[in-house]
Amino acid sequence: DILRTPGAVRDAERWTAHNYHPLPVVISSAEGSWLTDVDGRRYLDCLAGYSALNFGHRHPQLIAAAHAQLDRLTLTSRAFIHDQFADFCRELAELCGKDLVLPMNTGAEAVETGIKVARKWGYQVKGVAADQANIVVAEGNFHGRTTTIVSFSTDEDARADFGPYTPGFTVVPYGDLEALAAAIDENTVAVLLEPIQGEQGVVVPPEGYLPGVRQVCTERNVLFIADEIQSGLGRTGATFACDHEGVVPDMYLLGKALGGGIVPVSAVAANADVLGVLKPGQHGSTFGGNPLACAVAIEVVRLLATGEFQRRSAELGERLRAGLEGLVGKGLVAVRVRGLWAGLDIDPALMSGREACERLAERGVLAKDTHGSTIRLAPPLVITEEEIDLAVAQLAAVLTA
Ligand code: PLP
Repeated sequence: DILRTPGAVRDAERWTAHNYHPLPVVISSAEGSWLTDVDGRRYLDCLAGYSALNFGHRHPQLIAAAHAQLDRLTLTSRAFIHDQFADFCRELAELCGKDLVLPMNTGAEAVETGIKVARKWGYQVKGVAADQANIVVAEGNFHGRTTTIVSFSTDEDARADFGPYTPGFTVVPYGDLEALAAAIDENTVAVLLEPIQGEQGVVVPPEGYLPGVRQVCTERNVLFIADEIQSGLGRTGATFACDHEGVVPDMYLLGKALGGGIVPVSAVAANADVLGVLKPGQHGSTFGGNPLACAVAIEVVRLLATGEFQRRSAELGERLRAGLEGLVGKGLVAVRVRGLWAGLDIDPALMSGREACERLAERGVLAKDTHGSTIRLAPPLVITEEEIDLAVAQLAAVLTA
C-alpha cells in the first residue's frame, strides 16, 4: 500500500507536460476542508484550489444542484437559451450591482473578454483612434496564461519565449498612484488591476490606492477593471476585495469560486454602457454559460447573498492573522492577511517556500509556495477555528523543527 503513492506520482510525471511542480500527494476524495489521499492519509486543505473551493469540497447545496442539473440538461450552447441562464445572469448581476453579466469558463477567458470589451468601448464610446487603444496594468500582475495576457506579465517564467507579444499594454509599479496616473493618455481605455495581488503573494496595496485609481479613472474617462478572480467571492472577508475601500470598478472579472469547485465558470459583470458594446458574433464561447455551470453558479451566488461566508472569512481571518503574526520573527519575516487569505514570507535562510510546503504536507496540511520563499494560505471558508489553530501550529512546528 505504501508504494501506491510514489507509483501514482511517477505515472503522473510520465504522462503529462511538466508545466506544474505539484506536491507529491495523490488525492482521491475530499469533503469540506479535508482531503484524503490514495493511502487514506488526511490533509487540511489550505489552498482550496487557488480559491476555487471557497465553499469547501463538495458543498451539499452545490453538489445537489449539480446532480439535479446532470439529470435534466447539461449543454445547449448559446445558440439556444436554457432555463438556468437568465436566473444566473440576473442573480450575479445583482450581487455585483451591475446591469449585465457575460459568462465564460476560465479566469483567463474572463480577462480576455474584459480586454476586448474595453478596447471596443474605447473605439466606439471614448473615440480612441483605430488600433491605438492602451491598457495600464501593474508590475507583479497575474491574470492568466494566454498569449495576450502573458504579454504584459512581468514574471519571466510566465512570459519568456512566448513572444511575439501583444502590444497595447503599459506596465506601472503596483500601488503607485502617481505612476499610474502618469501612464494614462488619450488612448488609455482601461486600468486592469488585481485589488490584491494573489499570485504575487497576497500583496495588499497601500490604503487609499484603490479609491485613488477609481478617481483617476473617472476623471480621465478610463474603465477600471478589477480582476477579482482570486480575491473575490468572499475570500477577503467581503464579497469583493474592492469593497474594503468602498471602491466600485466599472468591470468585475470573476472566476474560480464562481464554479463552486465543480465546474469552470467565469464571468464579466459591468453596466450596459460598457458590456453593451458587444453585438452578436463579436464574442462567445461554446461552453460559456452552459446549463450545468449556471445551475451550480446560481447556488454559489445564493450562498454569497446570505453574507455568511464573507462573515466567516472576516472573523476567522482575524484568528488566522493573530496566529500568523505570532510567528513573525520565529521563522516568518512578514505576513499579509485579508480575510482567510494570507501571504507568508519565510526567512529564506531557514528554508524555501517549497520545502516548507513539503514539510507541512508531511504534517497533514496542504499549501503551495509562490515566488521563492512565500507561501499563500487560502483555506476553504468553511474551515473551523480549531482547524485554523491546527494549521498555524503545524506551520510553527515546521518553522522551528
Ligand atoms: N486572474 C487572477 C487574479 C488569477 O489569480 C488567476 C488564476 O490564478 C487568473 C486570472 C486566471 O484564471 P484561470 O487559471 O482560471 O485561467
